[in-house]
Amino acid sequence: MKVLVVGNGGREHALAWKLLQSPQVEEVVCVPGNGGTASLERCGNLPLAIDDFEGMSRYALENGIGLVVVGPEVPLAMGITNHLHSQGLMVFGPVKAGAQIEASKAWAKAFMEEVGIPTAKAAVFTEATAAKSYVKSQGIPIVVKADGLAAGKGVMVATSLEQANGAIDAIFQGQFGSAGNFVVVEECLIGQEVSVLALTDGLTIRPLLPAQDHKRVGEGDIGENTGGMGAYAPAPIATPDLMTGIQTRVLEKAIAGLRNRGIDYRGVLYAGLMIAPDGDFKVLEFNCRFGDPETQVILPLLDTPLEELLLACVQQRLGEMPPIAWKQGVAATVVTASGGYPGKYEKGKVITGIKEAEAAGVTVFHAGTKLNQQQQIVTDGGRVLNITSTGENFEQAIAQAYRGIKSIQFEGIYYRKDIGHRVLK
Ligand code: ATP
Repeated sequence: MKVLVVGNGGREHALAWKLLQSPQVEEVVCVPGNGGTASLERCGNLPLAIDDFEGMSRYALENGIGLVVVGPEVPLAMGITNHLHSQGLMVFGPVKAGAQIEASKAWAKAFMEEVGIPTAKAAVFTEATAAKSYVKSQGIPIVVKADGLAAGKGVMVATSLEQANGAIDAIFQGQFGSAGNFVVVEECLIGQEVSVLALTDGLTIRPLLPAQDHKRVGEGDIGENTGGMGAYAPAPIATPDLMTGIQTRVLEKAIAGLRNRGIDYRGVLYAGLMIAPDGDFKVLEFNCRFGDPETQVILPLLDTPLEELLLACVQQRLGEMPPIAWKQGVAATVVTASGGYPGKYEKGKVITGIKEAEAAGVTVFHAGTKLNQQQQIVTDGGRVLNITSTGENFEQAIAQAYRGIKSIQFEGIYYRKDIGHRVLK
């Protein structure tokens, strides 16, 4: 089978890498892909824009693509799945109506309330005065969010009224475009975050291994929010008991609620949860796609061929599949970023040492990289490489990832030195 993967991040490199391990997958094409997917055997890049649905469907039909796997949320929210379905293609990823669960926080909040999924208390506003007086009545800390997709930048965990009011003004003044038509003001939760990604065919929903990300740019979890600076799986905080609670109180309720709303949701449903110190949990957000960088630590541990699971979701027969099989051990990934990220940074820096790192036993998933005209791998984004390792325990896997990083060089390289601090003794 030939598979088309939509996206150009570390997540898509990991998806392509894992798909190519399935005996049934002959070839993967990434749209537009990156320097890593360009370097994989039996994998190629197709230079189309991420919203060129016509171009993708034409290519898929002319080249016998048996499955399309959509990585990022933006094309899903724009309806890529609806378009490709209309052309008779098999697509892993929810339809536009389903992608609202990520694309509108106001929609997701109303949905969670309606179906009884535990989540932070919140109110939605269409103008600043009412939002600010609500903030005043609730007190700080409080969380202010732009409603729509803002690549992780539309959330302010405010520790002063000035910060909260400033965030409300910025959103309504258009800092996030139409993503800021509504503001969600939410109770501030404390605890540890965990990502539970689940596969669903619209009827059955099965969780993957729980993972933990590191959102903040700085060591000790301080500084600005990023797309994620490192991750590991399985996250020990998500005990079997907790996972049972998440399955019944979150995942099954969500999929039943979507069905009741007439939404046939097939793809990943990703619950970002806050686990309170007493073990109680609440959903912070839902995403409608694989997480990045969580995917880079979940897939190396997956034993069941990935394409079998994805096809079972698309063909609505996940319930007939045997339990998902996992390898023993753990996985960790450390993100190397361009100096300045998540603020301004330069691109085009030559990257060396990837082969040496791989020879030392790590897997390097590329995020923001490309091949330049001289066929050198150069930086092409904020998050550049995900240095990934598996091991019997976190000490081993994390130490190995950091050994791998020692070989990697590019001007301005930045990475956190404390990935996994919660699980290292
Ligand atoms: P991303 O694209 O990074 O997933 P997002 O824009 O979808 O982000 P959220 O996931 O809702 O936004 O929030 C981003 C981060 O802000 C969370 O991972 C969490 O660290 C923090 N956060 C969000 N809501 C709350 C809350 N109610 N209490 C405490 N922290 C929160």
